[in-house]
Amino acid sequence: MLPAAIPPANPKCPICNGVMFGPGPKGRMAPNGTLPRCVECQSLERHRIFRVMFEKLGTENFANWSAIQFSPDATVDPSWFGSHELSVYGEPSGLDIQSIDRPDAAYDIVLCSHVIEHVGNDRGALLELLRITKPEGMLYLAFPDPFREDVTRDWGFPKPEKHGHWRVYGGDVVKRFAAYLPDQPVLAYRGEDPVTGEWEGAFLLPRSPERYRWITNRLGSGVSLYSGPDIS
Ligand SMILES: [Zn+2]
Repeated sequence: MLPAAIPPANPKCPICNGVMFGPGPKGRMAPNGTLPRCVECQSLERHRIFRVMFEKLGTENFANWSAIQFSPDATVDPSWFGSHELSVYGEPSGLDIQSIDRPDAAYDIVLCSHVIEHVGNDRGALLELLRITKPEGMLYLAFPDPFREDVTRDWGFPKPEKHGHWRVYGGDVVKRFAAYLPDQPVLAYRGEDPVTGEWEGAFLLPRSPERYRWITNRLGSGVSLYSGPDIS
């Protein structure tokens, strides 16, 4: 269970310092009834939660890193990275994460946010995302919050009324990770949105013991081993 979402007093957007908020896509409110979208930078809860996570990692550390980002959002600032490639899901120039047309170990950081639920072969996608990550690098993986439901619902096709998602992951995604990636530690990060107070989780997959320790040293109690071996 995640802690109760208490709306902060006088919320400020950690991405743009904006103080005006409005309804989210299709007029939705945050689960606790607060306004989720920053009027200034358009960020939503998850963008701010994981922006705070990257700031705890220390964005100055990324200055020499090569990055590839699968689908744009406000979570990261491309200017943090030494190089930054963007692939937009669904566009003709976009890469297919199930078969990525890039060499092995090409990037220090691979960012994949809200794409994996859009593909049929999520095992193949995870293996491909890790294949293009350097041995000392890491994969950042986010998808609609798996900590809100217990059981994954997978309908085996992209459901139009569910934004074209093949499935909604639940907490049992831990079994998928363990089956797909038995040798790969998957760290779960959970954070609180400074605007709405809502909690959400995402995953960091370090490729080396050094990267594992680097992440856990910086994120402290916000991060824990979710599946795979403790290689630290
Ligand atoms: Zn903002």
